[in-house]
Amino acid sequence: MIFATLLLLAPVAIHASPLANAATACLSSASVPQIQSTDSSWSRTIKPFNLRLPYTPIAVAYPTTVPQVQAAVLCGAQLNLTVTPKSGGHSYASHGLGGEDGHLVIDMRQFKEVTVDKTTQIATVGVGARLGNVAQSLYSQGQRAFSHGTCPGVGVGGHVVGGGYGYSSRTKGLASDALVEAEIVLANGTFTTASATNNPELFWALRGAGSSFGVITRMKFQTFAAPTNNIVFSYGLNVNAQSMKNAFAVLQDYANSTAMPAEMNMRVFINRGSVSLMGVFYGTQSAFQTAISPVLSKIGNPGGQVQQKGWIDALTGYAYMSLSTPLDYDVHETFFSKSLMTERLDDTAMTAFWNYWYNTARANSRDWYLIVDLHGGQSSAITKLGQDYSSYAHRKALIKYEFYDRVNSGSYPSNGLSFLNGWVDTITNSMKSTQFGMYINYADPTLSTTQAQNSYWLGNYAKLANIKKEVDPANLFSNPQAVGRVQV
Ligand SMILES: Cc1cc2nc3c(=O)[nH]c(=O)nc-3n(C[C@H](O)[C@H](O)[C@H](O)COP(=O)(O)OP(=O)(O)OC[C@H]3O[C@@H](n4cnc5c(N)ncnc54)[C@H](O)[C@@H]3O)c2cc1C
Repeated sequence: MIFATLLLLAPVAIHASPLANAATACLSSASVPQIQSTDSSWSRTIKPFNLRLPYTPIAVAYPTTVPQVQAAVLCGAQLNLTVTPKSGGHSYASHGLGGEDGHLVIDMRQFKEVTVDKTTQIATVGVGARLGNVAQSLYSQGQRAFSHGTCPGVGVGGHVVGGGYGYSSRTKGLASDALVEAEIVLANGTFTTASATNNPELFWALRGAGSSFGVITRMKFQTFAAPTNNIVFSYGLNVNAQSMKNAFAVLQDYANSTAMPAEMNMRVFINRGSVSLMGVFYGTQSAFQTAISPVLSKIGNPGGQVQQKGWIDALTGYAYMSLSTPLDYDVHETFFSKSLMTERLDDTAMTAFWNYWYNTARANSRDWYLIVDLHGGQSSAITKLGQDYSSYAHRKALIKYEFYDRVNSGSYPSNGLSFLNGWVDTITNSMKSTQFGMYINYADPTLSTTQAQNSYWLGNYAKLANIKKEVDPANLFSNPQAVGRVQV
C-alpha cells in the first residue's frame, strides 16, 4: 500500500504531504503526542543508528500510554499507512524507521520502566528501556538479571523480538527465551497479552519475528539471580590462516561436545589488527580451568588475561562504555553488516573463510570486525530448548557470525558491500547444498524480501505467515523484510 501512496505523493516531501498532514491531524485529534517535522527535535528523532540508511517517516507518534498507542495504530489503519514501532532505533537496516520512506513510526522510548516483582521475580520492562539501564535496574532490585546483548543503547523492544543473544545466552538462553508475557496492541487497535496460555501462537511468533505482529508495549521476563562469579577471559590467537583454521576446527569440535559446559560462553573476535578468543564463564576459577584447558592445549596454550568480576562489571566490560543510557541517547555509526548461522563448517569452507580473512580482510583498512560466537552445541541452553520453542529459527546453529564493516567518517563506499558479501560467500559457496540461516537482529537490507524471510526464519516462515494472516491481514505492520511482505 505504501508504494502506491509514495508514487502519488512525489515530488512533495513525504513529511509535508497532504497524507502527512492527515496523519498529524488524526494523531492530534486523538490526543496522541507526536514529534512533527517542524519541531526542532524532528531530525534527531528520525536519525538512524546506521547513518548509511536514513528514511523519512510520514509522521512520528510519541505515546506515553497504551490508549495513545492504540489510537496511533488506528490512525495508521484509517489512513492506509504502514505502521512501524520503534524502541531503541538500533536496527542495522533502520527497520525502526520502517526500512523505507513513508511509515507512521510509533516511537516507544517513553515506555521505559523496569520493575521486579519480589515474589515471582518476574520483571516488567517497557519496550523503550535500553539494555544498559535494564541491567542496572534489575540488579538494583535484588541482584536480578536476564540474558541479553552487549550494547547498552539497544532497545529491549527490537532486541527481544529478534531473539536477543548475549554473553550469557549459552548458559541462560536468549532474551526472548526469558519472556513470559508480552502486552501488545494489534492491527485492529485491540490491546491484549500473549503468553504460553493466552494467544500462544502469537506468543510463539513474537519471540523471533515480533516486529511484524503489532506494537508491544511491555514485556515480562523471568529473571535469574545475577551470577556472582563471572570469569572474564581473553586470549590472543596466532595470526596466520593455517593456525586459525586449525584453532577454529578445535573450537567447533569443542562447542559440539559435552566438554564445553553450559557455563562457558565464548567467541572469537577478529579485527584488522588482532584475533582474540574471549568470553565469560559462570563458576569458580578451578571449574573454569577444567573447562578451558582442553581447548587451550590444542591451540598452543596462547597467552591471555583471566579476571573474576561481578555481573555489572562484566557487562560494563563487554559494552566498552557506561551502562547508563540517557533518554536522548545519540550514538550513530555508518556501516554494513551481515550474519550467518551455521552448523559445523566443512574443511573446504574453513580453508576459504580463513584464507579470505588473511589475504583480503586484513588488507581492508576500514574499521571492520567479525564476531564468531559458539552459539549452540549439546550443552547450549538455546539448543536445548528445542526447535519448536519459539519462532527463533537457529537453535541448531553451532556458530553465529556477525560481520561488521564501518567507516569512522564520511560515507560508506558505494563499492564497499562486496567486501562482506565476499566473506560470507566463502562459506555459502563452499557448502552449496546447505540452507544457511541469518539473524534478523543483524538485518542485512541487501537481501530481497524472499531471501530475508527464508534466511531469518528458515522452516518457521510458513507458520509465521499463517499467524500474520490471522492477526494482521492487511499488513499494517510491515517493512521490506517483514513476515507477510510480498516480494515485488
Ligand atoms: C551497537 C550494537 C550492538 C548490538 N549487540 C547485539 C547483541 O549483542 N546481541 C543481539 O542479539 N543483538 C545485538 N544488536 C542488534 C540489536 O539487538 C537489534 O538491532 C535490535 O533490533 C535493536 O532493537 P531496537 O529496539 O534498538 O531497534 P529498533 O530499530 O527500534 O527496532 C528494531 C526492529 O524491531 C521492531 N520493534 C521495535 N520495537 C518494537 C515493539 N515495541 N513492538 C514490536 N516490534 C518492535 C522495529 O519495528 C524494527 O523492525 C546490536 C546492535 C547494535 C547497534
